[in-house]
Amino acid sequence: MIDEESLRAYLRAGEVAYRVKRVAESMVKPGVRILDIAEGVENVIRGLGGKSAFPTNVSINEIAAHRTPYIGDPSIVPEESLVKVDIGVHVNGYIADTAITLTFNDKLIRLTEATREALNRALLSITPGVQANAVGRVVEAVARNYGFNVIRNLSGHSLGRYLIHAGDTIPNHASRIPMGKLVSGKAYAVEPFLTNGRGYVEEVKGFTQIYVLTTNVKSLKRVEGDEAQLVSSISSRFRTLPFCERWLKDEHADVEGLRMLIQKLVRKSVIVGYPVLKEVSDGFVAQFEETVLIHGNDVIVTTNPELSR
Ligand code: MN
Ligand code: MN
Repeated sequence: MIDEESLRAYLRAGEVAYRVKRVAESMVKPGVRILDIAEGVENVIRGLGGKSAFPTNVSINEIAAHRTPYIGDPSIVPEESLVKVDIGVHVNGYIADTAITLTFNDKLIRLTEATREALNRALLSITPGVQANAVGRVVEAVARNYGFNVIRNLSGHSLGRYLIHAGDTIPNHASRIPMGKLVSGKAYAVEPFLTNGRGYVEEVKGFTQIYVLTTNVKSLKRVEGDEAQLVSSISSRFRTLPFCERWLKDEHADVEGLRMLIQKLVRKSVIVGYPVLKEVSDGFVAQFEETVLIHGNDVIVTTNPELSR
């Protein structure tokens, strides 16, 4: 069982995330800068008393995930596009991880609807003790029914305190590898990605915008001077949660200097990058995500009260 205080924090993070999603829906339109969307989302999170659990992802068309705007990013939402906004909120380290897809192309509405249905059915299949693979089977069956593929190398995950990926995997396909059970007392992010492409993502080389500090104490000890200062600031502000360069600009007026410092720390493996991910065949990718807390026999969808049971 989860204790009262953690439960309250999980529920509060979920409430904030739910409200932020409604704001994001109204902000995303063709012609709007993705930088304004991400900063808008992050300001609302703060305004509602939460903190960002990771940089807001605004991933467009064949870009599946991990695209957050950089400082001064001029990118805008294109006409006829499909936009995924992936939002992370935490309260005292307890995380709500949720994503929506919006499309401005009539030909992509079915893909978006199929993905929403895959998530809703996956959520309905969750009971205490359900096999993670059973949830994946549900997602893949819905995708197939619509004639789409799932992204096989992206999956849902358990959440931990200040940890986005806490060790358990919820596949989006009928995996033959045993993945274990979803158990009471834990929180999980369920996030089907569907595509009209082949169904795999690959890293976009040389395009990384999201980072996380290593938990390897030895490599942390190998830094000094400016680097050590940046590491200590990252550690105190974000702990083991992901961050991006935008979040460090208040302490670094010199953007080029900040970028060089980040690159140096990446080379020393003190920070680790999460490269932008794109669909291998440039198919369109849709994603919906909700956070689920299994509490006793209750399945609480913290990020969407209408879906709780
Ligand atoms: Mn997410
Ligand atoms: Mn997630």
